Amino acid sequence: MARSAVATIHLDALRANLAHIRALAQGAKVMAVVKADAYGHGLERCARAFADADAFGVASIADGLRLRAAGHRNRIVVLSGPDAPSDLAEMRRLNLEAVIHHESQLAMLEAEPTAPRLRVWLKLDTGMHRLGFPAERAAELYERLQALPSSDPDIVLMTHFASSDEFDNDFTARQISNFENATRELSGERALSNSAGVLGWPQARGDWVRVGGLLYGLSVAEGKTGADFGFQAAMTLSTRLIAINRVKRGERIGYGSTYECPEDMPVGVAAIGYGDGYPRSAASGTPVLVGDAQASIVGRVSMDLITLDLRNAPGARLGDVVTLWGPKLPVEIVAQYAGTISYELTCGVTRRVLFAEDGH
Ligand SMILES: *Cc1c(COP(=O)(O)O)cnc(C)c1O
Repeated sequence: MARSAVATIHLDALRANLAHIRALAQGAKVMAVVKADAYGHGLERCARAFADADAFGVASIADGLRLRAAGHRNRIVVLSGPDAPSDLAEMRRLNLEAVIHHESQLAMLEAEPTAPRLRVWLKLDTGMHRLGFPAERAAELYERLQALPSSDPDIVLMTHFASSDEFDNDFTARQISNFENATRELSGERALSNSAGVLGWPQARGDWVRVGGLLYGLSVAEGKTGADFGFQAAMTLSTRLIAINRVKRGERIGYGSTYECPEDMPVGVAAIGYGDGYPRSAASGTPVLVGDAQASIVGRVSMDLITLDLRNAPGARLGDVVTLWGPKLPVEIVAQYAGTISYELTCGVTRRVLFAEDGH
């Protein structure tokens, strides 16, 4: 049989989400972060929907190349910068901008003083301790970059938050003040906030916001969905019901026999599994929709199939649409049952799933 799993991308939701970010950002420029194939939604289609973003943020030069090949002339920022001198040449050729976060990258730039100017974003570590120079070195590094004939003197100063989704965690306030203290004397534009920063930390708005999740309607704030903040889910993952079985009380379902039927009950089988990116960690009880009725996972998710408690879906019929997540069933809720975050689920949809679009 043909595989039935479909990821439908809602183009109008992507557009509306960008407009909503613009309103919240109150004049700050918006970098639309489209790494990981636009959080699993498809790089080219999302870039089309975000065509008027002030910049795109990508994780690789290859993604920058795809955006240029699709005809986009927006600024494009490679969020982890160059790894080798050949990367610098490629970035210049494609007019990409480089985040500079490490001494080795500065050394590469300094080693080619006569190369054409490259636009750079200077990344400061204010407490996350992943990428970035120690914030106290901001002034020294800024001057070194400004003095370089091979880099553009208009340098954007940036940092990244570790816990901005915890709106009452003052670690973010400390990161903001570390950043302000380190950059006070410097004239460049500022870029601090990710999605959660835009929602929870308006004092960190700066000149740029770098937004991924919310553009796709995704939230990482504990217990909150993107819709709770006025954003629209941009992906519906669905499939079909391919079997309905009556299973007797006391019988067990699926690999490992992890679920025991508490009574005689209808158990549905839907054509999707971890081979499609539906998480194997989704526990019994994880909600799904069969048509418009609520059902739930029973037993283990297998590679191609899931098994469903249909006791609350008495009208279920073979061929019914089964929705795993989408506007009517927030992926944030599914993520909670699977012990992960929404981003990992949308990024994890695999290549055998058919992608479709609605809206324009
Ligand atoms: C991924 C990323 C973002 C976007 O984060 P969201 O939580 O998806 O908004 C912003 N800045 C940097 C440096 C990133 O790597």
